Amino acid sequence: MVNLQKYTGKPVIALKVPIPLGLALIGKGIHGFSLGLASIDYFDEQYIKEEKDSFNLYSKFYFPQVLSFLTYPKKDTFAFEQIYSYFGGCNCKWCVGKTPIEIGTGDKGIQLHNWQMMLEEVDKFNQYEGDERIIYLKKRVDNALHNLDSIPKDIIASQKNTDYYKLLKNLKKIL
Ligand SMILES: [Zn+2]
Repeated sequence: MVNLQKYTGKPVIALKVPIPLGLALIGKGIHGFSLGLASIDYFDEQYIKEEKDSFNLYSKFYFPQVLSFLTYPKKDTFAFEQIYSYFGGCNCKWCVGKTPIEIGTGDKGIQLHNWQMMLEEVDKFNQYEGDERIIYLKKRVDNALHNLDSIPKDIIASQKNTDYYKLLKNLKKIL
């Protein structure tokens, strides 16, 4: 993608990539990335279908402490409340002043929170330049893995086999 960007002279936006990978790509010169929250129409029907099916059953909430979304059954706001409280809640403009139950039951609020987190992650990342960025990201990835390993098992099942855990492990090797 970096080559594509150089070749076209236009910014290449990586769509639908997880946040830590997006940051790694920006670190390597990609212009930007999107979570795809507002750009699902770029994808084919099959993709939308799968997304909708899983979307009906599960919600994803981004936790900066683990550089990842944690997934919980949509109807199980108690599960969300436990994870949310474990990480000390969120003070972003969409969550502040709301109870975990209020946040956990509203799709829109969760999506806005996730979007806000992505913007803030990119902002924080952009405060660094060159090698500093990679050092910063390495630290974040190390902390995220440590934090994922430390979540008590009665709050959320082991995350070791999830895609984002594997992604963080891979980024740790690559960065
Ligand atoms: Zn929030």
